[in-house]
Amino acid sequence: MEKGWKGLPYKTIAQHYDQIFGTKVYKIPVAVVDDCPNRMGLKGMETCAFCDVWGSAARSEAFSLELPVQIQKYKTHIQKKFKAKKFLVYFQAYTNTFTKVSELEKNFNLALETEDVVGFVIGTRPDCLSPAVLKLWEKFNQQAKVFVELGVQSFFNDDLIFMKRGHSSEASLEAIKKINDNTSVDLGIHLIFGNPNENIERIKKTAHIVNSLPITNVKLHNLHILKNTHLEKIFLKNEFSPIDLPLYCDYVGAFLSELSPKFALHRLSAFASRWDELIAPAWTADKMGTHQKIIDFLRENQIFQGRDFIASTPEEERLKSLLKLQASPVLI
Ligand code: SF4
Repeated sequence: MEKGWKGLPYKTIAQHYDQIFGTKVYKIPVAVVDDCPNRMGLKGMETCAFCDVWGSAARSEAFSLELPVQIQKYKTHIQKKFKAKKFLVYFQAYTNTFTKVSELEKNFNLALETEDVVGFVIGTRPDCLSPAVLKLWEKFNQQAKVFVELGVQSFFNDDLIFMKRGHSSEASLEAIKKINDNTSVDLGIHLIFGNPNENIERIKKTAHIVNSLPITNVKLHNLHILKNTHLEKIFLKNEFSPIDLPLYCDYVGAFLSELSPKFALHRLSAFASRWDELIAPAWTADKMGTHQKIIDFLRENQIFQGRDFIASTPEEERLKSLLKLQASPVLI
């Protein structure tokens, strides 16, 4: 917490986890799947424009290790670094439901057999959700806590085409409904800001759509360019440039202002473990510096999550007041 301020101007995912578990929990990122429909070219799909060869895995070396070894290795590291006591295993890389259900079940069991693991997080796409997968999530959600992070990225189809996502906005909305109708897992979505046709109105509209969804959390990324991606190719041909930090701050500010205070935010911009792969923008390489600049921007402009959100229930009003207070300068 910065001097003179009570806290961050948004609800953090740590607060959300704390409400569920009553303590701080840490994610152990693992990699068990090494493909996705896009990379396989199913139905004419292509690799997403921003995706590097590691499919967004936090640690590329993980692919060569058995799951229990990965869990133990990274758990020990996080335990030492943060004095962590409780963990969620994060099935992060590629599309984690793009495999046999029996394999998923085996991996979920292995994760939950680990001491101090209280649940797991699954990253996946809107078009890889069979009834068997949903049933399996629900089964595990009865014995531990299951979190799902869905790669929605945008609610605008031209953005999705630009990013070569291979699914539509309608498919994302249907997937969210399907998950909500058939399971009680804790659902979040990933969004990417920085597409060519974006503007403040679209960002606000995105917040309004999120406000209507049965989800609990959102992860924000800026569209950055990594080596050996489609974005790199079009960047080198001067057909695309990433947005600058001031504009990205404007977008984050517009989004947070309109967003209901009930949602938790994982983070406000992208970061990755392999910055040697980063082509542009340079500002995204400075993880902590970028985060601080976004927070400074929000504070300078008195922006906090839910500032312009019209609360319709006493609970929403209470949460909004809490966040306003959380974001206020300390008056001494
Ligand atoms: S972002 Fe996900 S779905 Fe897209 S190519 Fe990478 S691993 Fe596949």
